[in-house]
Amino acid sequence: MARTKGYPDPKLETKLRDRYLYRTDSNPDFSKKVKDLSRTVSHMCFQCGTCTGSCPSAPRSSYRIRLFMRRNVLGLEEESLTDPDLWLCTTCYSCTDRCPRDIAPTDVIMSMRNFAYQRGIVPVNFLKTVQAIYQSGHGVPNNDVNRAARVRLGLAKDPPTTHSHPEYLPGIRQILDHYKVKAQADKIVAESEKKGA
Ligand code: SF4
Ligand code: SF4
Repeated sequence: MARTKGYPDPKLETKLRDRYLYRTDSNPDFSKKVKDLSRTVSHMCFQCGTCTGSCPSAPRSSYRIRLFMRRNVLGLEEESLTDPDLWLCTTCYSCTDRCPRDIAPTDVIMSMRNFAYQRGIVPVNFLKTVQAIYQSGHGVPNNDVNRAARVRLGLAKDPPTTHSHPEYLPGIRQILDHYKVKAQADKIVAESEKKGA
């Protein structure tokens, strides 16, 4: 094989044929599952880093979208799903807009989050947001300080959301109940509080 010509290691050719890239913790099914759910082709990633360079979370944290793209190609399920950085994507889609390979890294992250959620691996703060949405229809409900600011700006004290139209709240709750999102959030938050108590 031309790829290995000149390399001193006689086993390298065999290694390069190993599509699991010699990682014992690699799970090719994970790559496939993420691909099926995200409907994007991570294996086209050539690690140029444009996604990380576009990412508003990268300068503020250790989150690197390019790393997750590589993990996905390598099938590194545990490393991906248990890394708290998975939850630092803001879903702004800048990386997806700019990827020169027309990959959608945002959708890869969203898929991984779904798989993490199925295993109950979710930061508690995210689940408290679920509880807030269930209560008010908002992840960050309006408050008196914001209401006063809105009035000063000549706006209605509440935006035209469930704050002004609470009749839509039952529909939101029905969705969260249907997918058992609220029940799962309540369970994990309660377990976490019990551990912290
Ligand atoms: S921008 Fe696209 S090709 Fe480049 S590293 Fe990110 S996902 Fe891979
Ligand atoms: S969608 Fe997520 S990963 Fe992509 S640039 Fe925005 S914050 Fe970063």
